[in-house]
Amino acid sequence: MTVSYERRGATAVVTMNRPKYRNAQNSAMTYALDDAFRRAVEDDEVGVIVLAGSGDHFSAGHDIGTPERDVDQSFDRRAVVWWDHTTRSGGDQRFARESEVYLGMCRRWRELPKPMIAMVQGACIAGGLMLAWCADLVVACEDAFFADPVVRMGIPGVEYFAHPWVMGPRFAKEFLFTGERIPAARAKEWGMVNRVVPRDELEAETFTLADRIATMPQFGLALTKKAVNQAEDLMGMRSGMDSVFGLHHLAHAHNAEVSKDSLAGQDARSMRDES
Ligand code: ZN
Repeated sequence: MTVSYERRGATAVVTMNRPKYRNAQNSAMTYALDDAFRRAVEDDEVGVIVLAGSGDHFSAGHDIGTPERDVDQSFDRRAVVWWDHTTRSGGDQRFARESEVYLGMCRRWRELPKPMIAMVQGACIAGGLMLAWCADLVVACEDAFFADPVVRMGIPGVEYFAHPWVMGPRFAKEFLFTGERIPAARAKEWGMVNRVVPRDELEAETFTLADRIATMPQFGLALTKKAVNQAEDLMGMRSGMDSVFGLHHLAHAHNAEVSKDSLAGQDARSMRDES
């Protein structure tokens, strides 16, 4: 199973489970995550969701090179903001697919009516950031690191372009311009992470926090989450992301026109070797 689900008291634990590939996200994983989140939302006994990654790393990003890469496959679409991509070509195909499995699904998850905590260890890279950023709180351990190196592909950041809102515009530029790995302590300084703890305290810290939040009234939490999310949207996050999604696809199209493919010929190995 690409995603596992368990209940620990009032907390639902949703765990990405492709440790061999550092939890690289293929579409199968995206839809399995969506199923797990739905289950947590619909279980009245669940107060809080913890999103975790099995193994040494939270997530190395989108699957751009494992044997189970499934970009050409059709799934039962959920975000339904565009048509199915599999019968399309070129920019039409890319825009349809990324509208559904990247931007559309991440927005759905950000708006889940229950608080979600991302519990991050090891790598949280590119598409991995999108999952951590969908969560309301981020608890990281000291060895966690964060990076969005997709500017190396000539692309202005991952599809869910939350950077300026989750770390502020100036740090967002440093983060993107350099593509460097940012350690958890620095991410906390930037306001992107709530807490940083030693690796062996990560679970205890996260679940203690989850248990505490779960004692609050469920409807009150849902309204509070919505209140803060609405404030974030009033700061331009939603419309900002929409406008950057266009730039993102201009970059994909440019790459497809002038280089080997829409990722400028980069793959998981080349991206890893250079980071
Ligand atoms: Zn893209």
